[in-house]
Amino acid sequence: PDDLSGLSALVTGGASGIGLATATLFAARGARVACLDLVPEVPEPLLGIRADVADDASVRAAVDRAAAELGGLDIVVNNAGIGAQGTIEDNPDDEWRRLYEVNVLGVVRTTRAALPHLRRSAHPAVVNTCSVAATDGLPARALYSATKGAVLALTRATAADLVAEGIRVNCVNPGTVDTPWVGRLLATAEDPAAERAALEARQPTGRLVTPEEVAAAIAYLAGPAAGATTGTALAVDGGMAGL
Ligand code: NAD
Repeated sequence: PDDLSGLSALVTGGASGIGLATATLFAARGARVACLDLVPEVPEPLLGIRADVADDASVRAAVDRAAAELGGLDIVVNNAGIGAQGTIEDNPDDEWRRLYEVNVLGVVRTTRAALPHLRRSAHPAVVNTCSVAATDGLPARALYSATKGAVLALTRATAADLVAEGIRVNCVNPGTVDTPWVGRLLATAEDPAAERAALEARQPTGRLVTPEEVAAAIAYLAGPAAGATTGTALAVDGGMAGL
């Protein structure tokens, strides 16, 4: 359906994986889309803008440029994120700070910079890419899970702060999604095929989630059809959290 036609969207981390699938689906549904990423190369008709969500000035410039080139901003998808493995004994403080800079403060900066534009929209929405790690205790993911728990809390608190203005804020909680991120993880495993099988087995559906399945959930939450939905987390996790 053409349900995003006439809307303008900004997707952070939009040059790869879930972000690229989301930007591509948004465009197919009629939206004008900018991808904010460290890597600005994205296929037509997407507009690539180079920026680092860990740098406030860079985010402000990118958000304002996206709004100027797209003719305003209706939708912001805070999807840029990085991973880390380990228990609380494994990651040095600097790595904790780095992950919070990108995964948590990146959401804060981008949303904050976009708010003046969202306030001028008739259908404003923010969708954050959170994770099943925000709700489930996954082994050797202390740091990553803590950042995603923060994103979940931020989603709810921001939704409460903005509901009176008609700005909706939701998140998706993906399970393990078959993106370049997981490809990199598997490449470092001793036995990539066995590691992939283990990741598949961890999901009740017995397979990895596709980026397109996460994109479809984000597009629903971002669009006017979800007008009564704010402050929620939609699991797209093969049943991991629910079963
Ligand atoms: P990916 O690595 O394929 O894509 C992430 C994109 O974000 C890349 O294009 C990268 O350049 C960009 N990015 C990273 N740091 C950035 C920064 N500082 N500023 C701007 N852009 C930056 O990863 P993905 O699997 O598509 O993950 C996207 C999001 O989904 C992340 O927030 C991740 O935590 C979340 N997630 C992924 C999975 C999974 O299994 N792949 C599961 C749950 C949640």
